[in-house]
Amino acid sequence: MLNIVLFGPPGSGKGTQSQLLINQYHLIHLSTGDILRDEIVQGTELGQKAKSIMDRGDLIPDEVVISMIRSILEKTPNATGFIFDGFPRTTAQAESLDQMLDELNTSISTVLSLEVAENELTNRLLERGKSSGRADDANESIIRNRIQEYKNKTAPLKDFYTQQNKLQSIEGVGSIDAINAILCQVIDQL
Ligand code: AMP
Repeated sequence: MLNIVLFGPPGSGKGTQSQLLINQYHLIHLSTGDILRDEIVQGTELGQKAKSIMDRGDLIPDEVVISMIRSILEKTPNATGFIFDGFPRTTAQAESLDQMLDELNTSISTVLSLEVAENELTNRLLERGKSSGRADDANESIIRNRIQEYKNKTAPLKDFYTQQNKLQSIEGVGSIDAINAILCQVIDQL
């Protein structure tokens, strides 16, 4: 199996690049943000609980997102691989992911980390907010909170995956196609 973690701060291009990679490598896209937004649209109990947390730009509790991922992994035993987009975001999530994949006799193949400077992230998200309809893209203080959550809770995972020899840092500024080409090069060398 090819299991890719697409890693990076909000606005680094994880979603855009995931869309290209799922078609190129026939992978299943697992975006916890997309799944949560879908729960909100469906008006489920989980969606109702998640909405205010997401609208503030805070992280959803680990056990909630871990169980979402677990149930999808269990439902798709014949997958050729997954792209994890926006998951894991904390050390507890990363440890659980390793364990869940181990139970399926597989593991993370690589962690591709998209590197983008903070002022560029803020500009991109504010721009996206003009059309995305996402409350968490709509105002600068929420965007700053999301970036702060990333710095505090998610960025430490770079050390976690460096220790596992899995982290590959990629410049996330440039054309979508040029960044995609670099990601493909790294994946093809695995
Ligand atoms: P995203 O679409 O990845 O930018 O995620 C949007 C929001 O969903 C985040 O700001 C969090 O509130 C929530 N979220 C998505 N993925 C996770 C995760 N792995 N852990 C905790 N919260 C998450």
